Amino acid sequence: MMKAHDFVLALLAFALFAMLAFLPMFSHAGSLQVHTWQGGAKAAHTIAHDDYCSASTTGIEQYALPILNARGLKASLGLIAGSCTDAQWQTLKERVAQGHELFNHTLTHLGMLEPGSLAPISGWDNVREIVSAQQLVHSKLGYTMHFVAFPSDLATPQAKAFVEAQAEILGARAAKHIYDGKAAGLNDANQLQPYFVKWDGYWRDGKWSLYKPARGNMLIQHVDAALADGSWSYRTLHGVADSSWEAAPVDQYTAYADYLAAKVKTGELWVAGPSDIIRYQVTRTQCPLKLDGNTIKASTSNPLCSRYGTALTVDVRLDAGQEGTFIQQGKALPTQMLDASTARLAINPLLGDVKIQ
Ligand SMILES: [Zn+2]
Repeated sequence: MMKAHDFVLALLAFALFAMLAFLPMFSHAGSLQVHTWQGGAKAAHTIAHDDYCSASTTGIEQYALPILNARGLKASLGLIAGSCTDAQWQTLKERVAQGHELFNHTLTHLGMLEPGSLAPISGWDNVREIVSAQQLVHSKLGYTMHFVAFPSDLATPQAKAFVEAQAEILGARAAKHIYDGKAAGLNDANQLQPYFVKWDGYWRDGKWSLYKPARGNMLIQHVDAALADGSWSYRTLHGVADSSWEAAPVDQYTAYADYLAAKVKTGELWVAGPSDIIRYQVTRTQCPLKLDGNTIKASTSNPLCSRYGTALTVDVRLDAGQEGTFIQQGKALPTQMLDASTARLAINPLLGDVKIQ
């Protein structure tokens, strides 16, 4: 039988439990939200032009890059590094300075497989095609490429494993051993596979594409698919209005660039090269930030943090008594007030905890 004394103790214990359980609701009004995409965008998109430095993709320089630069959009350029001329290296220096990403599309663009089989084409050499392309670009431009796309997106399991083992390669475009269009699709932010980034290839009649010309501009359809889904769509193209593989017409490409620029302006879309997007997602999922009183704590014990770490877009609802100054490594971080009590800022977890004042 319960004595009165025990009953009082039980009541006290319950009251204490209730207080502790509900205390945080009253003592801290603050909260933290890490955005799924940089800048608080709904979705992300990549513009990729393959076969840069081949003789057939002249429209990348003649049309695509001027159209993108006029709208402040960044492309990613897949180099066939062994084919670049001195003049092209000079031009590429400017493209890097403008913020365009360069990615590894191999040294010679040698097909890796006999179509429809896993049998390597004789002459394929991982070290020559991947590593020496990395080294050549670095020696010419002082630039390290972080992303690989195999010629025709065909690769043996051994070649894929080789690429994944390269310390400076952070991701690769989804490749299969047979070209059937099944590496096409959208990339879910929470289930991103950095070495199997799904994409859609521009095909004028829609063959092997997720989209069909009867439904409008296929380039724009792939952007809308990401916006509807909250995911990342990666657009593979070759040239524009030139003799390259399935070159896009200038009018379609211009309408696509106008559409992207409009969606960037409203804040709905983040347009970036693949390595920026991969870095953001790996950091967001593997190097979490947590609010603890007046401190934003960064967990960076996962080794992927030092390899992929980048700044995350964070919204913080301020606690009463906090002014909205954020200090990391002794310096105030640039902060934008979204309303009277919500601050937006970029925080790189690798740089350590952030104190809120
Ligand atoms: Zn190619």
